[in-house]
Amino acid sequence: MTSADDLASRRAAEAIRISTALSSEKGLRLEEIEEGEHMVAWVTEKLCIGCDHCTIACDDDAIELYHKDMISPMMNVPSNRKARILRDPCTGCRLCVLACPTDAIEMIER
Ligand code: SF4
Ligand code: SF4
Repeated sequence: MTSADDLASRRAAEAIRISTALSSEKGLRLEEIEEGEHMVAWVTEKLCIGCDHCTIACDDDAIELYHKDMISPMMNVPSNRKARILRDPCTGCRLCVLACPTDAIEMIER
């Protein structure tokens, strides 16, 4: 029978494996994403979970979070946040694309 210590050890090893795989994937993706001042980030609202990762990654204060009412009034949550890009300060660096866990951000031409 698997002990709690064994399970914790296997979970830790699996977390490292997943993290390494994701980092590798993101590194490959970085080369595929076009950057530059002619590009600007764009958030697909329905994919955004308001996690705040992109605002932390962005050095240019080009992302803000706003509140959006839930579609169903039955859902009672204190805040349903979404991210939006501020076009003027966005430098097209694409860091937010890599930071987003739900692939809600893409780079588009200005
Ligand atoms: S592309 Fe760069 S500057 Fe523009 S919103 Fe994303 S992280 Fe900020
Ligand atoms: S990182 Fe992605 S999911 Fe999280 S707030 Fe930004 S756009 Fe939304």
